[in-house]
Amino acid sequence: MKADDKKKRRKFMQQMTGLGVLGLAAAGGILGAPYLKAAPERLRPPGAVPEEEFIGLCIKCGQCLQVCPYDSIVLEDIDGKAGVGMAYIEPRERGCYLCEAFPCILACPSGALDHEHDSIEFVHMGVAVVHNPDACLAKVGKPVPDAAIDRIYDHTTVLTDAERRSKKVTVDPNEPEKVQLQKQVLVDLEKHRGENPCTICADMCPFHPDPSAAIGMVDAKGGGMLPEIREACNGCGACVELCPTDVIKVIPRKNYAQIYGQGENHA
Ligand code: SF4
Ligand code: SF4
Ligand code: SF4
Repeated sequence: MKADDKKKRRKFMQQMTGLGVLGLAAAGGILGAPYLKAAPERLRPPGAVPEEEFIGLCIKCGQCLQVCPYDSIVLEDIDGKAGVGMAYIEPRERGCYLCEAFPCILACPSGALDHEHDSIEFVHMGVAVVHNPDACLAKVGKPVPDAAIDRIYDHTTVLTDAERRSKKVTVDPNEPEKVQLQKQVLVDLEKHRGENPCTICADMCPFHPDPSAAIGMVDAKGGGMLPEIREACNGCGACVELCPTDVIKVIPRKNYAQIYGQGENHA
């Protein structure tokens, strides 16, 4: 789509969704309530336009989450406040795995996820930070506990009850691609069960083609190791989901330079 066409389409959708929301507000008697406001704390799906535009453009259709093979996207519920029903990612529950073709972006009919941002070099959801370094298993020299791996089975939606109970999966090429992809995460994660030092965040980062441009393990001051967030990190949140001890979080809408400045982020 040409840039002018895209701008026109976005403007049209903004007007249409704006009218829709006004109608809803009037019907519900909430005109004047702070119904639509930016929610900078929300991690939006890949390709999301700036927050102020996003809340006008997301028509809450759920198309993005229907095509997401990892079930990474959810819609805000009634407590979301900043626009009920808008798409977001809760990375501790399920990060984004940066699909090659970004089907979520392609499926978005309104321009809330920008079709011109449908490749890895344009996707900037946020940036990861090591917010709880003293809990890092690699720093304190403790092995990855079973419970940390089991937790990911527990919230992987495509598994059968038997698979979830046994914590055992195999990737079957006859199963739907979505099932295969989600099982592959578990198969890769299994290699880290009991690992010491833990390297889950660095090894499971889905940034492509080179995850080490986004994260790597480095020696920590005072001993042990810590993850180092690097310039290519785009805030997908997979490391947040998979970290056994909740060491990493994503700051939505920020980029590396805004959080770390131009220098290196040494642990
Ligand atoms: S890139 Fe893939 S995993 Fe990430 S939100 Fe989009 S469809 Fe889901
Ligand atoms: S370090 Fe990798 S897994 Fe973590 S948020 Fe950044 S790109 Fe995603
Ligand atoms: S996943 Fe990374 S941050 Fe989390 S405990 Fe393991 S090495 Fe530390």
